[in-house]
Amino acid sequence: MSDTTKPEITLPTAPDANTASQKYHASCHCGSFTYDVTASPPLDDPSCTVTECNCSICARNGYLFIYALDANVQFTKGDISELRSYTFGPNPRVAHYFCGTCGASCVARSIDPDFFAGMTCVNVRMFEGVDIKTLKTKFADGKSL
Ligand SMILES: [Zn+2]
Repeated sequence: MSDTTKPEITLPTAPDANTASQKYHASCHCGSFTYDVTASPPLDDPSCTVTECNCSICARNGYLFIYALDANVQFTKGDISELRSYTFGPNPRVAHYFCGTCGASCVARSIDPDFFAGMTCVNVRMFEGVDIKTLKTKFADGKSL
C-alpha cells in the first residue's frame, strides 16, 4: 500500500493574509442560528472552489463546503455549542453540527487536536445571497479515504 494510490482530497490550510476575503451571512432553515462566515478567497473569486464529497455523511447531507478558520465563523444568534452534534465511527475526528429544530447541517469541526485543529468546514448551502449554480465545485473522493 503506497500513499501515492490515495485519492486526492483538498486539505484545509489557513488562508494567506494577503488573500481577499468576503463576509457572508448564514443561517439554519428555521433561523434559530445565524452566523457570519469570512470566506477567503470570496466564493465568486476564480480561485475559489467549493468541495462536494462522496463520503457517507457528505453524500447524505448534500454538503457543499469550504474551510474557514474557526475565528472566521462568528455566531450572531445561538452558538455552535448549542447546535446538535453528530459523530460516527470508532475514532471520530470530526463532529457534524446541525440545528436541533430544523435539521439544517451547518458546519463540521475537528474534535481531534491533531487533525486540522482550528479549521471549520462550512456548508455554503446555508449562505444568504449565494447562487449555488454559479459556484465552481470540486469533487473530493472522501469515500475512498
Ligand atoms: Zn434551525
